[in-house]
Amino acid sequence: RNSGRLDGLSLENGGANDAKNIRIKLVLLGDSGVGKSCIVLRFVRGQFDPTSKVTIGASFLSQTIALQDSVTVKFEIWDTAGQERYAALAPLYYRGAAVAVVVYDITSAESFAKAQYWVKELQKRGSSGIIMALVGNKADLQEKREVSAKDGMEYAEKNGMFFIETSAKTADNINHLFEEIAKRLPRSPS
Ligand code: GDP
Repeated sequence: RNSGRLDGLSLENGGANDAKNIRIKLVLLGDSGVGKSCIVLRFVRGQFDPTSKVTIGASFLSQTIALQDSVTVKFEIWDTAGQERYAALAPLYYRGAAVAVVVYDITSAESFAKAQYWVKELQKRGSSGIIMALVGNKADLQEKREVSAKDGMEYAEKNGMFFIETSAKTADNINHLFEEIAKRLPRSPS
């Protein structure tokens, strides 16, 4: 009954229109402190509240968005909550993910280097056809910027990724990020 062209993407075909309800697993990867939890909380709860972070174990939140053509996409979002430090566990975490969002902090060149490590890792071990987005977060901190938007964009283009700069603090581009991902998901043939 459930069929999808990607691991982690299930199209629920129970009724005639149910192919329009798409559910996908999305993982966030990136250095600790780049703002992954804040991005998720901003998207799911509309808040910027770093203190509410769950610090032990992977946290899980979901959010559904509607696209123009009455398709809904339910994101099941896996946040590592610090486990990115244990590289050996990562494949368990992103196994079956249809979407990977690789996040760096525009004020940290080191976090951009780490993002590139994760991209390579996903290319080697992620689901085939995984959709990857590269996100430069903390775009509100322009005066402390270490990574130019051009560098982010060029790297993303080379690797076939969608690129965007966001701010979980000001909410800039957060919804846009998830909408753009939703638009890029493969659709079932109708
Ligand atoms: P994670 O370890 O990647 O999940 O990072 P967190 O979401 O815990 O965020 C780490 C720190 O960065 C927190 O102190 C946040 O307040 C801060 N932070 C997250 N996103 C932003 C942002 O867009 N702008 C600014 N200025 N700070 C942010």
